[in-house]
Amino acid sequence: MADTAEAETQSTTKAELDRVRAGDTRALARLISLVEDESPRVRSVIKELLPHTGGARIIGLTGSPGVGKSTLTGALVRAFRAAGGPGARVAVLAVDPTSPFTGGALLGDRIRMQEHATDDQVFIRSMASRGHLGGLAASTPQAIRVLDAAGFELIIIETVGVGQAEVAIASLADSVMVLLAPGMGDAIQAAKAGILEVADMFVVNKADKPDSQQVVRDLRNMIALADPVEGGWKPPIISAVAVRGEGIDELLSQLDAHWSWLNSSGELARRRQARAREEIAALAFAALRGRMAGRVEELASQVADGTLDPFQAADELLGRPTD
Ligand code: GDP
Repeated sequence: MADTAEAETQSTTKAELDRVRAGDTRALARLISLVEDESPRVRSVIKELLPHTGGARIIGLTGSPGVGKSTLTGALVRAFRAAGGPGARVAVLAVDPTSPFTGGALLGDRIRMQEHATDDQVFIRSMASRGHLGGLAASTPQAIRVLDAAGFELIIIETVGVGQAEVAIASLADSVMVLLAPGMGDAIQAAKAGILEVADMFVVNKADKPDSQQVVRDLRNMIALADPVEGGWKPPIISAVAVRGEGIDELLSQLDAHWSWLNSSGELARRRQARAREEIAALAFAALRGRMAGRVEELASQVADGTLDPFQAADELLGRPTD
């Protein structure tokens, strides 16, 4: 019985996947919703599509609200489509880790990118947190896998804000762009959130505004403080006026340079392996935590009332012999 049910699920999954790989956008949207809803079917979907992944180039874009992420993404999509010819497919995944209530703002972003709405080689989708950050942290890599298996060459992951959650999501990408703009105290904020460490390039947007050169200078000073690594990548600073499409060509060429470096230095393989390691650990720890929760509570009460020491309690939890 169970075997028949499983075989049926597998064949449905395979059929869905074939549709997604053939460019069926509605089937693709359904699969992403499955991931977003943390459906139990995600497991079999990921297993089925895994052999088709690894071909996409994943670019992360992060920055505070209002710096121009949507505008820049739109310009980038346009430039990529123009440079890559009619077959170049690009997906944008806008992830909002901050609140389950800002889904509306992301919807706004999608509407602003309407010019791409009729282009079937461009797929735009937003994912908002369903109330808990852990869910989004676990579902974003799966959504990226779905897009990767669907055959998009370029996947842009856009996250709102500069904080720990954004750093975590940004680090899912092969290349991380941090977007800043004058008048937002952003360089300092980014430094505090540890985003400077994960940035592969900086885009100072709104270069048409007078203070933008100051942002470039602040950034340059901050980057100069970092220890240079032999053969390492030095994050460039690109000035842009996203509303006028200025600086986008340079941005594309820096992204290409970074992609070449990732491949020639072996860093791409290292990054992807590090991501897989993090993902396995996160899944295993979440499962362990769930499985052990009851026992932890029992042991905690013994530690709290002084009848067991915490080292023994940990050993007991892990099934290790205590001395
Ligand atoms: P997001 O919240 O980071 O996605 O930012 P948006 O792309 O929505 O842009 C926020 C505002 O900044 C909008 O009113 C844009 O038109 C404006 N904006 C975007 N890029 C530029 C730029 O290069 N120069 C100027 N002056 N305004 C810009």
